[in-house]
Amino acid sequence: MASIETESVEQVDKVTLRVLVDKEKNKVVYAEAGKDFVDVLFSFLTLPLGTIARLVAKEDSNIEAFQFGSISSLYQSVSDLDEQYICSQNCKEMLLQPRNSMEAYCRQFKLNIDDTEPMQYFVCENLNCRRKERGCLLSIFRNQKCYCGRVLDREVFPKCLNIEKGFVKENATFIICDDLCVMPNVFGASLNLLQKLGVDTIDAIEELSVDIDKKQVVDLLKLSLISKTPLTDYILKKNQSVDNLNLRNNVEFLIGELTSDEDRQMSVKVMLRKSNEQVLFVEAEADFIDVVFSLLTFPLGGVLHMLQGFSSLSGIDNLYKSLSDLSPDIYLMSEGLKDKLCKPHCATQFELRNQILPIGATSLPMNYCHTYYDYTSRRSATDLTKEIFYSRNNNISEEKFVPFELVHPKSSTAKSSFAKGPSMYMVTDDLFVSPMSSISTVSFLKRSKVTLSDLEERVIKIGVKEGLGILKASLISTSALTIGLNQFIKTDKDIQVSTSAFSAPQGVVTPESNSEALGIDNGQSWSVRLPDGSSGTQVVDVPRSPLVEDLPLPPNIQPQKPSMNVAKKVSL
Ligand SMILES: [Zn+2]
Repeated sequence: MASIETESVEQVDKVTLRVLVDKEKNKVVYAEAGKDFVDVLFSFLTLPLGTIARLVAKEDSNIEAFQFGSISSLYQSVSDLDEQYICSQNCKEMLLQPRNSMEAYCRQFKLNIDDTEPMQYFVCENLNCRRKERGCLLSIFRNQKCYCGRVLDREVFPKCLNIEKGFVKENATFIICDDLCVMPNVFGASLNLLQKLGVDTIDAIEELSVDIDKKQVVDLLKLSLISKTPLTDYILKKNQSVDNLNLRNNVEFLIGELTSDEDRQMSVKVMLRKSNEQVLFVEAEADFIDVVFSLLTFPLGGVLHMLQGFSSLSGIDNLYKSLSDLSPDIYLMSEGLKDKLCKPHCATQFELRNQILPIGATSLPMNYCHTYYDYTSRRSATDLTKEIFYSRNNNISEEKFVPFELVHPKSSTAKSSFAKGPSMYMVTDDLFVSPMSSISTVSFLKRSKVTLSDLEERVIKIGVKEGLGILKASLISTSALTIGLNQFIKTDKDIQVSTSAFSAPQGVVTPESNSEALGIDNGQSWSVRLPDGSSGTQVVDVPRSPLVEDLPLPPNIQPQKPSMNVAKKVSL
């Protein structure tokens, strides 16, 4: 690796980045990095949302702790929930320490930030149980019972995990832009970038060398969720405020046409504050709560896949798009790996029977329980393997492969769920889940300062679209229910008003690209018809805002008199 040096000093693993900085603008132009750093950057996509909520809450960091949308309060509510409302202690642990389905990859990284304990596998102490033709029970918790009544507590280790060494090829080097776009390191790309950023004289550019350790990778993860320029903010230590994200200004929050599978819908009662259409809370049964809880187990990349690359977290969207654009032949370890990274599944134990969202679960990496007598150590041995091997010490008769069967950790009744019915639950706007109680509800309403006449209850069906709406909003807002369900609760008339929050009443033409399956409008521009100053009108393409912020206007609108009227309205 020519462009990157790695070293280990005082046992703190670190990676060195070479960074080009525009001194005049005090801005990072780009960084150059090799495998060690880029693997870690892509590993952000493998992190379950619950893990991210835990990492961004870390105080031990240069970036202040913050709430990750509504995911942080959801995480807190699971932590607070009394055990009687959750299937088992295992469930709680699974949700609070969600497994990364690609943990075997991430563990190889020098700067792996997923601090979840490694997965453990347990079988029965009784050798006969491990050799049963019908299968050997395998548990990922030490407290599950075997057929024979004993606790499954003998730890075994998987063998033959034929996984690639990381994500990108060993000698590949990359350019990482300020907004986390990752590109192959060719001079053409960097020249393009310099020109695009308006860097005219090479003299304005300075080279820096920056060491990054694990703690700083957490900083970068935090910044990638709240900043449009994470590298500048990180390297030049610009003041970073978590308040950048204010989804209320985002007019492009729409989930469009998707086929809704009526069989996979669930009814919930929505308590609305009529005056501003805020969802105060949802009252729901365990099936909906399971879906809400399961958000904690979704890997970020899987979320991006479901949202077709548009999560509204611009740095993460760029990272995901870069990965999708990289050639698996040249830059990534394999095509299969690219597929796994672009559509990461939940870890196997998180598969939910009534999941409404289109995410799968991985299968465990090994299929057989292999038992044999080890003549060297003179005792019987057990491995978990993917393949059947023959002829070990010519003692085939002693050797046995039987399939293993995962003991479902969620509940003893094998129902795939987290929440325990038949209780009713209350979910507040920021996805805080608690058991339903009329008295707590009254005090909640009191705290919310809502008058009883301002309350309205509606029953709505939650299917895939509604679920994706909540998921998308949960990443960037503490009003996941209000924003996520907004378009499904409103009447047609309301929708017309709200989607034109752009609110230029006459003259605004609808967005051109409304055909993206999820309707998450990320087209390049709006066409706006404006008076041209004489008698007619002109059509002006207005670039879209990539993130929230003020709505962008082309420079030629604002100063011109005839446009002032519209410009005022547009800038809200
Ligand atoms: Zn047993």
